[in-house]
Amino acid sequence: MSITSTSRTQLSASKLTRSSLSNSHLIAFVSRIPRAEIQRWLIVLNELLPDNDVRLFDNLTAQQKQLCTLAVVANPDPAELRQLPNLQWIHSTWAGVERMLAELPAATELCPIVRLVDPTLAYTMAEAVLAWTLYLHRDMPAYRLQQASAQWLQRPYIAAGERTVGILGLGKLGALSAERLNANGFNVLGWSRHQRSLKNIRTFAAADGLASMLAQSDIVVNLLPLTNETRGLLNSARFAQCKQGVSIINFGRGATVSEADLISALDTGIVSHAVLDVFEEEPLPARHPYWSHANITVLPHISAPTCIRSASKIVAGNIQEYYKSGRIPEAVNRQLGY
Ligand code: NAP
Repeated sequence: MSITSTSRTQLSASKLTRSSLSNSHLIAFVSRIPRAEIQRWLIVLNELLPDNDVRLFDNLTAQQKQLCTLAVVANPDPAELRQLPNLQWIHSTWAGVERMLAELPAATELCPIVRLVDPTLAYTMAEAVLAWTLYLHRDMPAYRLQQASAQWLQRPYIAAGERTVGILGLGKLGALSAERLNANGFNVLGWSRHQRSLKNIRTFAAADGLASMLAQSDIVVNLLPLTNETRGLLNSARFAQCKQGVSIINFGRGATVSEADLISALDTGIVSHAVLDVFEEEPLPARHPYWSHANITVLPHISAPTCIRSASKIVAGNIQEYYKSGRIPEAVNRQLGY
């Protein structure tokens, strides 16, 4: 069964049944993350939503599945979501929803998907962007290699203000990262779909804007969502628009960077170093050439881990507001993919 608008018309009957049974709302938790993590989410969400019952999909009876109008999800199995025919909306506990959008078919028939927008997550990401920008800025990859061959070589110091960092994506994570870099003395540029205005940050938009920003950046940080438009965006043609010796930080999604093109850009020196936290396939396969490349730093998707407590507060707040006012938070734009 799919979550269609037709099935949503059956809602009033379900609502009646539900309210006649109890004042509390039954909320499905649908997820393929490890069981221990699911348990932590359930404990915190139920603590924060004491008048409701957030229950793992596996523990819902057939009748209860009919009553659920809201699902909280973390990498959900689409087959399970289809067994909840009366969903009004879905709250993802993840910021990136590209996988859900790809796995749930017939986009226009589906109910709204709300993604996680958590200031704590943005703070953590901005910290990671600053940390790994400093890593590149202060030549740590080069000093690591020098130590491996007992080489004493002092590299010239370049002030942060002479270093230009270009951020791809000026959303919740990109904008705060840009501000944090700027507060630490870097010259910051930013690129987004729409022209954005950020204090002390020169902003660019559209394809021409991207070429212009890449040509000026010493370090390029990707914080774009993965969509049809951003898949493979950083390819040979784009690397050719970059400054010779540019560094890349990818904290958005792996598939935004063409793997083969990145390796060839590193091998020809167009790109000097890449810090990669996200990959097309995760965990990164043991035989992947990234692992052993001297100029790649591999991170196991740790730049901005979700904090269950802060994320649950956001999710619970949105749910309480919905039950109070009927207001569903801003949903993902399915046409744009983010
Ligand atoms: P967001 O608030 O939706 O912002 C997305 C930004 O990307 C916006 O500025 C948007 O432009 C821009 N954008 C999207 N498509 C574009 C295009 N085709 N051309 C130019 N700009 C485009 O997203 P967010 O909360 O900042 O999160 C960004 C991504 O970070 C997530 O989607 C997720 O994949 C990733 N993430 C990674 C981790 C990690 O641990 N590595 C953790 C959390 C999230 P407009 O402003 O013009 O709309």
